[in-house]
Amino acid sequence: MPQYYIWTIGCQMNKAESERLGSYLEQLGYQATVTAEEADLIVLNSCVVRQSAENRVINKLNALKPVKRSRPGITLAVTGCLVNSHADQLKQRFPQVDYFLKPGDYPHWLEKQDKPSVLPRHPSPSTFVTIIQGCNNFCSYCIVPYRRGRERSRPITEIADEVKELVHRGVKEVTLLGQNVDSYGHDLSDHPSLADLLYELNTIDGLARLRFLTNHPKDMSPKLIEAVAELDKVCEQISLPVQSGSNDILRAMRRGYTVEDYRQLVTEIRSKIPEVALSTDVIVGFPSETEQQSQQTVNLLSELRFDTIHIAVYSPRPGTIAARKLEDNVPPAEKKERLIKIEQLQERIATEINAQLLGRTVEVLIEGRNKGKWQGRTRTGKLVFFSDNGDYLGQLVKIRIEKTSPWSLQGKVKDYNND
Ligand code: SF4
Repeated sequence: MPQYYIWTIGCQMNKAESERLGSYLEQLGYQATVTAEEADLIVLNSCVVRQSAENRVINKLNALKPVKRSRPGITLAVTGCLVNSHADQLKQRFPQVDYFLKPGDYPHWLEKQDKPSVLPRHPSPSTFVTIIQGCNNFCSYCIVPYRRGRERSRPITEIADEVKELVHRGVKEVTLLGQNVDSYGHDLSDHPSLADLLYELNTIDGLARLRFLTNHPKDMSPKLIEAVAELDKVCEQISLPVQSGSNDILRAMRRGYTVEDYRQLVTEIRSKIPEVALSTDVIVGFPSETEQQSQQTVNLLSELRFDTIHIAVYSPRPGTIAARKLEDNVPPAEKKERLIKIEQLQERIATEINAQLLGRTVEVLIEGRNKGKWQGRTRTGKLVFFSDNGDYLGQLVKIRIEKTSPWSLQGKVKDYNND
């Protein structure tokens, strides 16, 4: 039986794609192996969002050279964001690679027969579905539009059929993915929106929850906020990357909104969806960011009080506008200090927000076991652990929260819905 090995780094879109490819290979008679050395087919699913990620891919490719040399009959394929439209240049640089495949493409010898066949056979109760690839925004620091190309949406019917099939295979929660899900549909002939897609998916029997990632503050519509507020399956959780609390920095980042626009959007979301959990992304140490501008970010974060923040330290990404035109002039020690300041602030805020859940009963979708405990998430995306001898995988369980921390919650089973 031929063996396959898939190595994946990067975002949830890559992970979802690798899961599907693995499942498809198994249907073709391949068996998964844990080391590349034993495999007949090796696939690297790459990420180049940060230079460090691209370096890891290149290191991995170099490490595979002797494997390919000693067993020339094996197949080595690379997919993901490393693969741009210059496959010939990549082939020259990495002659050990047999196939360079754009994200989502399959090699001719593994041509997709039909859509359901590439879905995971035993998906996790909570799984991911890509609805739009690429990005048209060109934020000055980001390489994604150059590597993933322009936005391409999948038709509503195709996504709905896929979600129905996933539900048939045991999925309870689907997270819709895209670099900018708010752009969904504008490139399709009938111009559906993400809200339209949510209304359609909300009707699917057996599906319990829907989420979507990632939003762009300049593109998020009132109709989408209404849909989240109104639809019972759409979870009260929104990711809304702000990136900076300084209008000058936002302009240099080419984000297309001001701090005032952002604040108004958050107010609108919170007034329509009262229990919503908001997360955001921040970049510290962007070129020319002064201490005062960094403080403006800290002030905004402490005013808006997010449930979670993903903080990135700026590093120039070759090929982007910022790397070409702006000097990376914030000293590394200063960047680190700004990072720590925001981390400490967020730890305090998340401690207070999560403490409000103490004694409350929340609905948790159980995704698996970790270190002897069941693990799942609330509708607002909070991680919950509990100990119990029952079998809860894929079930919606009511948990009474008995302990909270900034990162997770712990509790006991209160009620168990086995439908
Ligand atoms: S919205 Fe900006 S940061 Fe996000 S993928 Fe597009 S260009 Fe990159």
